[in-house]
Amino acid sequence: MTPPAADLAADLRGRIAATGPLRLDHWMAACNGHYYASRDPLGTAGDFTTAPEISQMFGEIIGGWIADLWLRAGRPAIRLVELGPGRGTLMADALRVLKRVPGLADNLDLALVETSPVLRAAQNQRLDPERLDAQWHDSLDAIPDDRPMIVIANEFLDALPIRQGLPGGGERAVTSTETGFAPATLPTDLSPGEHCPAATAIAASLAARFAAYGGAALIIDYGNTGPPPLDTLQALRHHRNADPFAEPGDSDLTAHVDFSALAIAATHAGGRVTAAVPQGVWLARLGIEARAAALKSRATPAQAAAIEAALVRLTAPVQMGQLFKAMAITAPHWPQPAGFGA
Ligand code: SAH
Repeated sequence: MTPPAADLAADLRGRIAATGPLRLDHWMAACNGHYYASRDPLGTAGDFTTAPEISQMFGEIIGGWIADLWLRAGRPAIRLVELGPGRGTLMADALRVLKRVPGLADNLDLALVETSPVLRAAQNQRLDPERLDAQWHDSLDAIPDDRPMIVIANEFLDALPIRQGLPGGGERAVTSTETGFAPATLPTDLSPGEHCPAATAIAASLAARFAAYGGAALIIDYGNTGPPPLDTLQALRHHRNADPFAEPGDSDLTAHVDFSALAIAATHAGGRVTAAVPQGVWLARLGIEARAAALKSRATPAQAAAIEAALVRLTAPVQMGQLFKAMAITAPHWPQPAGFGA
């Protein structure tokens, strides 16, 4: 059992009393570590909903993307990796598609990177009917580096700890007050804007592995390209914005993903990167409208309306279609992945 959030607050208070205000990334790591370890946060009864939980179409399209890339890469024996698989829904939907491709399931080892025991159990249950053995790991580094990998990360990097350089100088930190916690400033010389060292380290590690053994990663998340954003930290609780410094470990802390920083890190490490394409555009290029039409053709009117609503939610620019982006990192010698243009 994970200790209650009150223990986390007491622990954070003790750390601040001993060594001073906590850097934002240390705060975020402690809070999210507790948060994910102690619950399943997804769905209408939880704190937030993700694309695979909105519709099976999302994971199916990604399954098609994987299959196409595997075929064009020459059908190698691969490790299929998902970072932060949530309830396992995306992977279950993708595997249904992959298993229809002759030879693919026989050439595939499944590795899931997940720290939360609650979500590991949910993934195990969700993937059980697919009859493919999965291995769980605490981090990407723990996965053996011995063959090409195809890596999927949907709404994973946004949960990793960020540092925030302040425009007036100094760096965002968190201190304790009589009633709770409050933002503070540390006198470091971090450049203004948000930096996610954990995310850029993963991008570099993936690129280096791909350069050596082949492979590709599909990263889908909310965020932008361009200079680092100044302050996108947000806390979500019961589908509403909450104070990121109140009630540590009881809300989901995320920040926009800086796709330009990922691209730079991956390129330096020997990988090739695609442009970051809006999710709506990427899903359209991969044929989500045809998939929706096929599902609707054998649905009741109520089901057809739900499929149409999910399609709009995933692709419309005012919904998830524009803010969310897809980007791929590949081995330089691998084929161009589908959906990213010429
Ligand atoms: N990809 C899923 C879930 C997104 S929520 C979906 O789209 O529905 C973020 C996921 O990342 C959860 O599974 C969470 O437990 C996991 N996670 C968060 N921080 C992590 C970390 N540092 N290491 C490993 N997994 C992490």
